[in-house]
Amino acid sequence: MTKWVYGFSEELPSTITDKRGFLGGKGAGLCEMTQLGLPVPPGFVISTEVCSYFYKNKKFYPSDLKAQADTALKDIEKQVEAEFGNPKNPLLVSVRSGARASMPGMMDTVLNLGLNDETVKGLAELSADARFAYDSYRRFIQMYGDVVLEIDIHHFETILAEYKRVLHVKDDGELKPENLQHIIEAYQEKVLALTGKPFPQDVHDQLWGAISAVFGSWNNQRAVTYRRLNNIPEDWGTAVIVQAMVFGNQGNTSGTGVGFTRNPSTGVKEFFGEYLINAQGEDVVAGIRTPAHIIADYDPVLAERSMERVMPKVFKELMTLQDRLEKNYCDMQDIEFTIQKGKLWLLQTRNGKRTAEASLKIAVDMVQERLIDKAEAIRRFDPETLEQLLHPGIAPNAELPLFGKGLPASPGAAVGRVYFTSEDCEQMAKDGVPVILVRPQTSPEDIHGMHAAQGILTTCGGMTSHAAVVARGMGRPCIVGAQDINIDVEDKVMTSGGVKIKEGDFITLNGAKGEVFIGEAELAEAKLSHDFETLMGWADELRHLKVRANADTPHDALQARKLGAEGIGLCRTEHMFFDADRILWVREMILAKDLEARKKALDKLLPIQRDDFAAIFEAMEGLPVTVRLLDPPLHEFLPRSDVEIAQLAKSLHMSESYIKQRVSELHEENPMLGHRGCRLGVTYPEIYEMQVRALFEGAALAQKTTGKSVQLEIMIPLIALAGEFKYLKALVLRVAEEAERDLGQNFTYLIGTMIELPRAALKAGKIALDAQFFSFGTNDLTQMTMGISRDDSGSFVPQYRALGILDRDPFSSLDQTGVGELVKFACQEGRKTNPALKLGVCGEHGGDPLSINFFEKTGLDYVSCSPYRVPIARLAAAKAAIGFGRITEGLSEKVA
Ligand code: PEP
Ligand code: MG
Repeated sequence: MTKWVYGFSEELPSTITDKRGFLGGKGAGLCEMTQLGLPVPPGFVISTEVCSYFYKNKKFYPSDLKAQADTALKDIEKQVEAEFGNPKNPLLVSVRSGARASMPGMMDTVLNLGLNDETVKGLAELSADARFAYDSYRRFIQMYGDVVLEIDIHHFETILAEYKRVLHVKDDGELKPENLQHIIEAYQEKVLALTGKPFPQDVHDQLWGAISAVFGSWNNQRAVTYRRLNNIPEDWGTAVIVQAMVFGNQGNTSGTGVGFTRNPSTGVKEFFGEYLINAQGEDVVAGIRTPAHIIADYDPVLAERSMERVMPKVFKELMTLQDRLEKNYCDMQDIEFTIQKGKLWLLQTRNGKRTAEASLKIAVDMVQERLIDKAEAIRRFDPETLEQLLHPGIAPNAELPLFGKGLPASPGAAVGRVYFTSEDCEQMAKDGVPVILVRPQTSPEDIHGMHAAQGILTTCGGMTSHAAVVARGMGRPCIVGAQDINIDVEDKVMTSGGVKIKEGDFITLNGAKGEVFIGEAELAEAKLSHDFETLMGWADELRHLKVRANADTPHDALQARKLGAEGIGLCRTEHMFFDADRILWVREMILAKDLEARKKALDKLLPIQRDDFAAIFEAMEGLPVTVRLLDPPLHEFLPRSDVEIAQLAKSLHMSESYIKQRVSELHEENPMLGHRGCRLGVTYPEIYEMQVRALFEGAALAQKTTGKSVQLEIMIPLIALAGEFKYLKALVLRVAEEAERDLGQNFTYLIGTMIELPRAALKAGKIALDAQFFSFGTNDLTQMTMGISRDDSGSFVPQYRALGILDRDPFSSLDQTGVGELVKFACQEGRKTNPALKLGVCGEHGGDPLSINFFEKTGLDYVSCSPYRVPIARLAAAKAAIGFGRITEGLSEKVA
């Protein structure tokens, strides 16, 4: 016989190892508390397996379920000495959902079940409190009507409000029993009118109606969306908990409350909680009355109202119990309790939700208190939470109207005045105005505007669009693909939902959530505590993967080192080309009429590149630096508008028509698949020659100033063919030898390639015969494998996610079973022909915890990500090394 139902005090058979999976989080907590001998009202759990059965069998239950539930109900009756449906001595129960992972507020609950026109009289008599009894019945009809009978709650609220208006009553508590009886009658009439059936009087019908509603709520829209957003598997299902009711609304020796075993905002080890006298749980949530503190010291002004002073005995017991619970779970607990006529009952315990700051402090403190070990502290800590610690956020009290939403491309909060061009942004920023750059999308030409801006907002593009990648690199808050916002660049306004924002108006961005607010929010500065360093130190002890940063400037390099980067995994040289003092020479080089003219222009660029490289090498002081040779198509560097072309023609003494002709010659229908990456190196070898020469000259300079030898890794992008790599490797070697000869010294360097095309992954064995390292460019590899343009994915990927076709945005978190297969294959084949092959990743996925877990399993040597994600990657790498282990509720972390 399958056992579907377990009483709280019943031990599970040893074959069931996943208690939370079987009983749900809440059910497991109640059983554990009961078995620890804590005061828990008796009850039983209908396991999550019934939920799966229910959905697999057209919403039918196992045939023996009812009999098992009846037996368990009898057991509750025995323990509380009351009987379900007995008009003289009624047992009342609550029916609640309880999924494996907490889904707060997503599913349904029914309280006071077992009341009907008869039992309510028994309850009134037994409690000697008719008001309490009829109020409980009224609440029950309302809740049951809403949850089970699916009657819109406003029908009940309207009736209640109308009675209160007629009776000149403000607070529900002033309603007399006879008023409540009238309200109940009106409620029942409404139920009959809307459903065609009277409100159920049979308590067993009530019970099964509620149980089915709870199972049904697993698939309500709210719950489905929550699961999708939090990566909770659809097939986990919920358990149902049926538990004897206890009442906190039975006078001044009763009450209800919630508390955390440590402060959930700061993490400080102090009980933090609130309670309400003569109230039920929903009164606390509804916020009609202001709860009092539990600890007297918490607010000396209100100390006299605290539980410590008002109910000292119960308070003492609560303190003992909370300590036991925390020691039992070895984690901060969020406890719900009720006091019925002076007796304390625990109704729930779970790992408490907490801020990033509290999460960090609690994890570190608990190791020091020897409650957990270092690995467990790391395992519990969600790396994404670090984002909140590293960037300033919107102050908790800021409340602004929402203007629009987009993809959360780069975290942090930004406040500024809106400007629609990079030029305007730069100009205003120079005058000290905080600005937000708003564009349909950005291009490399916008770098200066992005730099000047506090934050960036685009209406097109996905998580690896230009704006997203560059903003993350700069640590600028950024929202991309906010499709509901319409920008009119000409008129300098943007609109969304009928609201207009003009140039110069203030907006606030929350980059972590993709939210755009109207107006100016107060920001809270990020501060890194000693605990942060401690936890990071532990992560570094435990991880295998090295963590590098994608950095293009000495400033980024220094920032990355501060955050613990162990090298640079990708220096995109093109970003250097856009600086105001060199773009002219880059353009001259591109527009050159012949090789000689191009070489002349390159000669001007060489010293500038050399100094750039030298500064980066100096910042990295002997740590490995991977520099990628030029990658983007040349037309990206050329001006587009007639005005800019005219200006350029003047500066370079060329004709406008010639420049226009070159721009048109370089135009490509499909530049992402066009003349870019190593293809440039093959067709314009002089560009790569200049870059390689500048690298060695820069290395020589840096070695002189730092006294440390530069570990240079020269990377050739977008290789598809082994022949391309062979050809360009020969070029690099030749220039390197010349440089070594001319400079009179030898250098340590590697020559490798990016793997960003499926063909390169498939031919990895062949390419690795020549390459000394591979760095997976998973941005392009995702684009090229899935055939999804990284710049346009925003137009449909969010919908794919909403529909469940995609679990995650493949440009944020690696498509492990598709693109990941290519990565795995390339690693295996590459190492077969070249066992010393160094393997890394430099696409955006290098900073994503789930992807990092995959890279660890795949045997990569390092990941590289934007500087601000370095701590996240360090932590994620440690987690990957020790295994994710159990999933802790409260830290919303899921495992692929
Ligand atoms: C990549 O394609 O993953 C990569 C790192 O290169 P980029 O983003 O510059 O194309
Ligand atoms: Mg690329």
